[in-house]
Amino acid sequence: MEYRVAQLEALGRFLDEKKQDILEATALDMGKPPFEAEFSEILLCKNELNEMLNNLSHWMKDEHVDKNLTVVQRRTPDAVGVLQVTRLDSVFIRKDPYGVVLIIAPWNYPVHLLLVPLIGAIAAGNCVIIKPSEVTKNTERFVAEVLPGYLDKDCFAVVTAGVQETTRLLENKFDYIFYTGSPSVGRIVMAAAAKHLTPATLELGGKNPCYVSDTCDVQNVARRVAWGRFFNTGQTCVAPDYVLCSAEMREKLLPALREAITDFYGPNPRESPDFGRIVGDKQFQRLLMLLRSGRVVIGGQTDEEERYIAPTVLVDLQPSDPIMQEEIFGPILPIIIVANMDEAIDFINSHERPLVVYAFSSNDKVVNQVLERTSSGGFCGNDTLMHVTLTSLPFGGIGNSGLGMYHGKFTFDTFTHHRGCLHRGMGREALNALRYPPYSQQKLGIVRAASEVKRKGACTLL
Ligand code: NAD
Repeated sequence: MEYRVAQLEALGRFLDEKKQDILEATALDMGKPPFEAEFSEILLCKNELNEMLNNLSHWMKDEHVDKNLTVVQRRTPDAVGVLQVTRLDSVFIRKDPYGVVLIIAPWNYPVHLLLVPLIGAIAAGNCVIIKPSEVTKNTERFVAEVLPGYLDKDCFAVVTAGVQETTRLLENKFDYIFYTGSPSVGRIVMAAAAKHLTPATLELGGKNPCYVSDTCDVQNVARRVAWGRFFNTGQTCVAPDYVLCSAEMREKLLPALREAITDFYGPNPRESPDFGRIVGDKQFQRLLMLLRSGRVVIGGQTDEEERYIAPTVLVDLQPSDPIMQEEIFGPILPIIIVANMDEAIDFINSHERPLVVYAFSSNDKVVNQVLERTSSGGFCGNDTLMHVTLTSLPFGGIGNSGLGMYHGKFTFDTFTHHRGCLHRGMGREALNALRYPPYSQQKLGIVRAASEVKRKGACTLL
């Protein structure tokens, strides 16, 4: 434990001492505004780190669990014998590390998505290889050069790699792979893991629907949706990808969104220090192509040289439009018209299960209905993104949006093999005779009575 705590504390010093460098690297890579960088890349990592340090001694301990053999009626002398034997034994879950873990991270939160899993992998006692994204070059270089100086080099390594090198890296046998990125690469990673039967967590993406009901405070909804969509220039896996609402609500929402965007970023978001840029040319060109769908009602301005795309809202879309076929991952918000909540739920359920479903309504019943009748990695009612900031909630996808979960204790558990252990005493062998051949119906009756897990409240007659 002392070793793990020392490594985690060193990681904390890295975040404190190198905060400015991290802000500069992410600003160079994607114009990440300092507020957004400090909140998402530093503060949320520190929260995970402190949560881990506060609970590590408790989470690491053997967990002593129930012995179902103690559930027995004291009717026969033999059954009492079985009871006594198990009372002398020790039944517990040992929290073993997996061994050597590989963490592969994407570019959109290049520090957070690398360090949050690393914190849990260290806490659980593993050796770790971390591979930052090659797309955010400045952050990748900085992490590779500086982070190893803080950690024990015998156990923790940063490997810089593009697609070719990562393909080679994945040929090795790891004990656990934690991957964050697109569903298409997730399939490649899982196939590589399967070759060695390596367990894997896949944190993937997708299109997160955001239903806005007719009964809500439109100004509040607009601000919360605009913040979630345009934070990090829309390059967020849990961003609301599109809005579903009635035609009447759309007419109220559009001026409110326009006002929210102007309040946030001023009349020209290009000049705002609080609005970033698209990470690379390839990603920029993909978004330009998506902008051809529907009709622009807010924003739409672009600048290739700066990789700038204004906060944009699109309407008049068809479900078959390119923008509705893939995760947007940029500052573009399409609004899709639905007749009512039932139609919105049908629309959501006719697509892949997303990382998160958002529902806005002043009527709790509506929010609960959307929660009840859809399936997704997570859920957030009447806000966006904020569910991810809670270390008490598991974070992860389902189906196409991922496999497994992390954050807080869930990260520790992800990187821990829960080893089921029974440690018996050597003596009292006579009591074991019940389960040894030669078998008899009488022995079976006693073993059943001593070991059966009974339904609660059921009447037990021996
Ligand atoms: P990506 O899949 O292109 O890359 C992710 C990582 O995989 C990078 O480190 C990259 O080097 C590596 N990689 C790429 N191609 C590979 C290959 N053929 N073989 C092996 N490794 C390969 O994803 P990205 O563009 O960096 O990130 C965007 C995606 O990540 C979006 O879909 C987004 O929703 C998702 N994402 C999910 C979460 C989450 O927590 N669920 C968080 C952030 C991003």
